[in-house]
Amino acid sequence: MSLIILVMQIHPRRIALVVHGGAGNSKQNEDGCVAAASAGFRLLTDGSDALTCAVHAVVALEDDERFNAGAGSIRRTDNCTIEADAAVMDTRGHLGAVACLRHIKNPVLVARRVAESDHWLLAGEGALQFARSYGAGEADLFASSPEPEAAAVACDTVGAVALDSEGHFAVACSTGGSAPALPGRVGDTPIVGSGFYAGPAGAVAATGVGEHIVARMLARAVYESLRNGVPVQEALDWGVAQIPGSLEVGLIAVTHSGAAIASNRPMPAHVMQHAG
Ligand code: ASP
Repeated sequence: MSLIILVMQIHPRRIALVVHGGAGNSKQNEDGCVAAASAGFRLLTDGSDALTCAVHAVVALEDDERFNAGAGSIRRTDNCTIEADAAVMDTRGHLGAVACLRHIKNPVLVARRVAESDHWLLAGEGALQFARSYGAGEADLFASSPEPEAAAVACDTVGAVALDSEGHFAVACSTGGSAPALPGRVGDTPIVGSGFYAGPAGAVAATGVGEHIVARMLARAVYESLRNGVPVQEALDWGVAQIPGSLEVGLIAVTHSGAAIASNRPMPAHVMQHAG
């Protein structure tokens, strides 16, 4: 037994983490993705599970006002409503999401808690009540949100996918939505199989115009390619090509053998992996 443990320590299994800061966001913000990926990867290296690491990376991006999630969430067309969508999923059986969640500093942490509840998706007032029931951190998101002129036409989601040392996959994502968007609008980010998916073949996260991503169930479609053995970069490039070029889209994914990034616009992102 001790010999097996020793061999595993000398030859740890492959670990990987990919982070993105939204299709259409500036590449100048990529240092935020590097910092988020580094924080999550440190946990992966220490043996934490894939979901914990992906969520940790997304929290770092939610706290960075340059990204449209958490503190940097954009306003809806009424110029006062700020609503977040977020989700998590892993191959240990966790699936949780929130939609149209207001006032909460880190929506991805609420999605993580929903994954431990009897439900998979909570929305609006009920999601807020759920978050408050366990004391989730709140923040004045209006104060930190970008001025409407700076985000008149905007998308962006933040997301992370991870593979841990036990061979499990996870995905976490969070967004302030798109602009212009009505209060109550929900995109792809909290919809399983559209904005995110994780299964035995890998984990996938999407960013871009949610209405078009949902119509193609893009994350699941890409996952099917991975499950059929298509190389990860090829699968992501195919996924991006499913969306008309006039619309922003980006994808990240991790599999047992690779990790990749694809987008049809500039997209801050970062990959960290250890071959094992
Ligand atoms: N997918 C997000 C949404 O439609 C926005 C984005 O990722 O750009 O809400």
